[in-house]
Amino acid sequence: MSFFEPTARYAGQVSFIIVETLAAALVHGGGFDSFERQNVTKFADLGLAEVILRALAHEGYVSPTPIQAQAIPSLLQGRDLLGIAQTGTGKTAAFALPILNRLLADQRRPAPHTARALVLAPTRELAAQIADSFRAYARFARISVGVIVGGVAHGPQIKALSGGLDVLVATPGRLLDHVASGQLRLDATRTIVLDEADHMLDLGFVVPIRKIVSRLPKDRQNLFFSATMPKEIASLADDMLKDPVTVKVTPVATTAERVDQRVLLVDGAAKRDVLVELFADPDLARAIVFTRTKRGADRVAQHLDAHGVGSAAIHGNKSQNQRLRALDDFRRGRTRVLVATDIAARGIDVDGVTHVVNFELPETPEAYVHRIGRTARAGAGGAAISLCDNSERPLLRAIEKTTRQTLPVIDRRGAQATGGQPTQDDRAVRRAAPHEHRRTHERPHQEAGRKAPSRSNQPHAKPTDGARPAKPFGANDKRRRPANGASFGSRSRAPGSRSGAAANE
Ligand code: AMP
Repeated sequence: MSFFEPTARYAGQVSFIIVETLAAALVHGGGFDSFERQNVTKFADLGLAEVILRALAHEGYVSPTPIQAQAIPSLLQGRDLLGIAQTGTGKTAAFALPILNRLLADQRRPAPHTARALVLAPTRELAAQIADSFRAYARFARISVGVIVGGVAHGPQIKALSGGLDVLVATPGRLLDHVASGQLRLDATRTIVLDEADHMLDLGFVVPIRKIVSRLPKDRQNLFFSATMPKEIASLADDMLKDPVTVKVTPVATTAERVDQRVLLVDGAAKRDVLVELFADPDLARAIVFTRTKRGADRVAQHLDAHGVGSAAIHGNKSQNQRLRALDDFRRGRTRVLVATDIAARGIDVDGVTHVVNFELPETPEAYVHRIGRTARAGAGGAAISLCDNSERPLLRAIEKTTRQTLPVIDRRGAQATGGQPTQDDRAVRRAAPHEHRRTHERPHQEAGRKAPSRSNQPHAKPTDGARPAKPFGANDKRRRPANGASFGSRSRAPGSRSGAAANE
């Protein structure tokens, strides 16, 4: 019996559904393609309107992802939903499609200064991406979609609100500004989506969200998405949701498991040079480099640029237009490297990211998982390289504990610059598939789901003589080159071609 049959049978009754099939397909081999083959559900079976199905075909979506298959039928019935899911699972379509379907079924036009459905997102980039998704799925329908975010002029937003909107995607602060000035009333909003609620908490948005929710009509549909459920978020969900269906997909460790990860132990002062060396490898065709601070992001981008590696920084000090332009250039393969802070990059939806490089390890393991998830979009694999200096080793331990993985470590402290070439140990690690890494490092007990031991007694490869084979470390083993979303639908864009990337440099 297929995994989906019992779910379909119980749809509307089950209040807690855990979707593990995708995780299993990804962890045990076969990747998303094998999942798609097993997945018998079709979009047409979910009860979506023909104009939406046509748009999905136009997007090249063949079958729903687990969260879509689980969530859409209940949402079409008007149920509330608690979705425990990260980006990359297809969660945007999981809420956008049923919302559009319900809006289309009730042809009323929105009254001026109102929005029929409201989606709250933590960042401007995510809001813009969600709105793009709504527009794509509504391409053959008459649906108005607006975006309200901070950092840009009020005028065009006021104009958009004055006509009323079917779908409004917004960040909380600017939304409340428009409510306060009377440009927006929330009494006609019958559907609310809270996306990346845990990230909203990080950004201090819980109070504004509660204010917004208090102005909504009581009779409404609530959709709540969060990758993790810290206490405040659980209590917000509890207050907002009525008898919700819960769908949980891709547990944190699963994302981590499908990314080919490695760590370079380096001296802090050598990080920037090591970074430039990494980019001597053309396999790093489309990479996001994470830094902890905005200034750090600027400095790293300048350093890469100065060494011929086309880069752009994206963070909260950049204007909205600069951020969108940088993102667009990156998406189109005109810029090879995007240097980003966690907040700016969270939720960025760019397919075909070949590598994530952690210039600094993040403060929390969750942020690490979010970062490396940028290269494992839509069920694809990917590679992540972390530069770790001595002071960051406790952070590395925490990451290994949370992801329940032992990461292959190459010790390059004190190593001379190799001019972009790997040491013998680098090669040894590159040759090994991820499971082999564990054996290389004598940690055979480290299988998924088992707790990592302390690193203190674990051997690290020592720097060696700087022998020079053709490719530096950091590239994926060819057998495990990330599929870069190609298996997952038409929105996947080809990664920047080698020549395109070179032209940028
Ligand atoms: P999300 O988790 O919403 O950020 O979606 C991740 C990526 O998957 C986006 O690029 C979507 O366009 C893509 N996507 C979502 N659903 C599907 C689907 N059913 N088939 C193919 N691609 C999809």
